[in-house]
Amino acid sequence: MNTRAVNTEHHRIVIVGGGSAGISVAARLFNALKHPDVAIIEPSEDHYYQPLWTLVGGGVFRKERSRRAEKAFIPQGATWIKERVTELCPNENKVITDGNRTIEYDYLILAAGIQIDWGRIKGLEGHLRQGGLCTNYAYDQCEGTWDTIRNFTGGDAIFTQPSSAIKCGGAPQKIMYLADDHFRKTHVRDKSTITFISGTPSIFSVKEYAQVLNQVIQRKGIDTLYKHDLVEIRPESHEAVFRSLETGNEVVKHYDMMHVTPFMSAPDFIKRSPFAQTA
Ligand SMILES: Cc1cc2nc3c(=O)[nH]c(=O)nc-3n(C[C@H](O)[C@H](O)[C@H](O)COP(=O)(O)OP(=O)(O)OC[C@H]3O[C@@H](n4cnc5c(N)ncnc54)[C@H](O)[C@@H]3O)c2cc1C
Repeated sequence: MNTRAVNTEHHRIVIVGGGSAGISVAARLFNALKHPDVAIIEPSEDHYYQPLWTLVGGGVFRKERSRRAEKAFIPQGATWIKERVTELCPNENKVITDGNRTIEYDYLILAAGIQIDWGRIKGLEGHLRQGGLCTNYAYDQCEGTWDTIRNFTGGDAIFTQPSSAIKCGGAPQKIMYLADDHFRKTHVRDKSTITFISGTPSIFSVKEYAQVLNQVIQRKGIDTLYKHDLVEIRPESHEAVFRSLETGNEVVKHYDMMHVTPFMSAPDFIKRSPFAQTA
């Protein structure tokens, strides 16, 4: 039997990832091309509109509103390959999937999003949604943020941002402002401190926005600590360990609630690939 015929297929354009970027590009291609031959490689049956997770964490929406069937976004005529890419072989114009299939292409579009590295903060995994710890950075976690905010009765509230690249540079702050608003409405703000602790050197990387945001945090009485990454959580003692990016020294902070923005990086299969090695 010819195994190549069974396990190999070719498409003029291959898109890896059917998230917001992948499906947007696919839609554009189907509008622009006369005879598009486009394959989308996406393992998930569901599409997640992640920006909504901030509002789920703020108590505005249920998380189910952010999830839709992926098939509703695959353009008619596109080939949907429901597998995960495990290897990129740009020198041979092909990718390999976890189903052991080889997909060849003329053009490749990489849209696999950004990977969340939960394990880089010691003590985080297994402790979310309890003891005041929460995050908006996963479908199954964002409702836990709202539970944490609405059950907060005062104390030290910390909101973190790592020094790594993250998706949506504003999300670590947006949930903090929503929490501040809720704490004021429920009269717990005057019994609380709010601190924004970030690995970044300032409140925002764009100077014009930073100027305005600095006024916002001053007006809201929010404290800040920059150039410090959250590296460890000690849930039993409600302590968070931050490491200075300048000195390497560690600072231990007490928290009663903490919204964690985890470290993120390129997906492993891209890190391992020749694309990363030549970048
Ligand atoms: C809490 C939160 C709030 C946000 N708020 C905003 C906002 O207000 N405004 C804004 O513009 N953005 C916001 N964002 C960011 C926005 O959601 C992302 O920028 C956007 O989802 C990126 O789209 P993407 O397609 O690149 O990645 P994703 O939407 O993450 O999609 C990546 C897709 O690739 C697939 N994939 C991964 N690995 C593989 C593989 N090996 N093989 C095949 N497929 C693979 C995944 O299954 C997934 O479907 C927010 C994000 C979060 C988490």
